[in-house]
Amino acid sequence: MQQLLLNCSALIDDGNGGFRHLNPAYVGITDDTITYLGDKEPQGDWTKKDLHGALLIPGLVNGHTHAAMTLLRGLGAGLPLDRWLNEAIFPVEDRMTREDMAAGNALAQLEMLRTGTTSYSDMYYNLETEAELCCSSGMKVNLARPITCFDPNESAADSYRAKESLELFDAWHGKANGRIRVDASIHAEYTCQERIAREYAALCRKRGMRMHIHLSETVKEHEVCKAKYGKTPTEWFRDLGVFDLPTTAAHCVTLEDGDIEILKAYGVSPVHNPSSNLKLGSGFMRLPKLLQGGLNVGLGTDGTASNDNLNMFEEMHLAALIHNGYASDPTAIHAADVLKMATRNGALLQGRDDTGVLALGKKADIVAVNMDAPHLVPSFDPLVTLLYSAQGSDVCMTMVDGKVLYENGTYKTIDADKVYFEVRAAQKRLYS
Ligand SMILES: [Zn+2]
Repeated sequence: MQQLLLNCSALIDDGNGGFRHLNPAYVGITDDTITYLGDKEPQGDWTKKDLHGALLIPGLVNGHTHAAMTLLRGLGAGLPLDRWLNEAIFPVEDRMTREDMAAGNALAQLEMLRTGTTSYSDMYYNLETEAELCCSSGMKVNLARPITCFDPNESAADSYRAKESLELFDAWHGKANGRIRVDASIHAEYTCQERIAREYAALCRKRGMRMHIHLSETVKEHEVCKAKYGKTPTEWFRDLGVFDLPTTAAHCVTLEDGDIEILKAYGVSPVHNPSSNLKLGSGFMRLPKLLQGGLNVGLGTDGTASNDNLNMFEEMHLAALIHNGYASDPTAIHAADVLKMATRNGALLQGRDDTGVLALGKKADIVAVNMDAPHLVPSFDPLVTLLYSAQGSDVCMTMVDGKVLYENGTYKTIDADKVYFEVRAAQKRLYS
């Protein structure tokens, strides 16, 4: 199938790792791939799609979330991280059934599609139903079943969590035309033990898996690790061979200079989660230093219990603002850097080098932003308008692999009414 997106402009790849505003833009798509980009209408037999003046951007990649936690949205607000986890979150998670999680995942996808996310990295458990959902919904996902362990003698071979993680990889990695990928995951240093982490990393490396972890989210986590092992969490993971796998590390708030050097040397991709870090009072990632150091930094929402939504526009907005204020420097972070974090960098940390930019030969993962709204005019620089003025609700179309999944309030592949019904039923089971 050949389709042509027209009556729009687009932030396309400038060939140097940045963006160029193509206006007007004609985007030709053959099946799932971008095959024409230009400011003149191409010849040929195209099915035309009028976008009514919208701005096209690459699909947003949520680099770190826990999708099923939509069912815990806002729970335990006001508690510090350790009490929030132990007193508010874990007791409800213990009651969650596979059915509850399926409802939570579907709700997460409704929210993500509506706000321009085409792909996300999910760390959770009972992920088979989520893989099945992605087959029918059309979204891209990197699934990761994390291991946790509190017994220093437990081996990877004895761990049912490690077994589930590897079985998920064997069953689902590369499925749905490559839209589903399965990564390894160690939840965090403070929820794991050395023996199992070393053995599990070695097993996953043999399979060619990528790794997804939480790293140095809080001062407490960081300092307790140093007191216990005489090393930072970054050094701990490195010494256990975890960074021998291509790794995504969520949060990275309390990194020391030496940690940043290690992450760079091993090609680890940190993921910035500004809403979650602000809400839980975890602090400020050293984003300007990480970007200046050339690290591939992604952007994520974290779970909705600590955010409380999955809206990447809000994360982009915060990432573009808070570091300037924290550094008392209006040039600390640039809008283009933030959009790159949410698109190209996210795709790379997921192991997807065929997407993340609008360029010839790349997958047609495209989001259209309606620019016909009072808060978006006048627009002198569409990148600036996008980062500082636009809202997730301004997304009017979300396309994955050339297929429209969401458009103007309508979901094409998910029955939204059924999802809301199931979420309310799950809520009743979990909280009454
Ligand atoms: Zn997280």
